[in-house]
Amino acid sequence: MFFRRRARADREFREAQREGFALLQQLAQEPSPFETVQAEAPAPDGLDSEAVVSDYPPVELRAPSRQDVDGFMMRWGQPLVIDEEVRTCPQCGAYRDWIVFCMRDDSVWLRCRAGHETKESSLDAAWYNRNSGPVDRYHPTLEEGLRHLGH
Ligand SMILES: [Zn+2]
Repeated sequence: MFFRRRARADREFREAQREGFALLQQLAQEPSPFETVQAEAPAPDGLDSEAVVSDYPPVELRAPSRQDVDGFMMRWGQPLVIDEEVRTCPQCGAYRDWIVFCMRDDSVWLRCRAGHETKESSLDAAWYNRNSGPVDRYHPTLEEGLRHLGH
């Protein structure tokens, strides 16, 4: 019975310890007024945040936010009609199966199946956001993104 009693004593000790920890964690999680103010402050815009986040780990170790990534990409299988005009690749004449990029500078680029990339100046980030789904995947390189999208 020695072992059993000892085990129970250990268990009781651990339970007491756990309760103590839980209380400590609860206290630690209660935000101080200062932290609350920080959380509600508006996020700095893209350029300023570069300097602010410089102490963070490298980009590839972080979950990407809009300012971190080089751009967004989506597949656009249908012909792309802008102002009632079907866009074609100026180099090979392709008119569908695009990859559409939205870059950091809000420019939108079309990439045809053959890999020709053309800036589409009549489209912008607002158009891209209206037409793309939520971001569900982060590609560390452009090549991986293209592979994922079937190009
Ligand atoms: Zn092309």
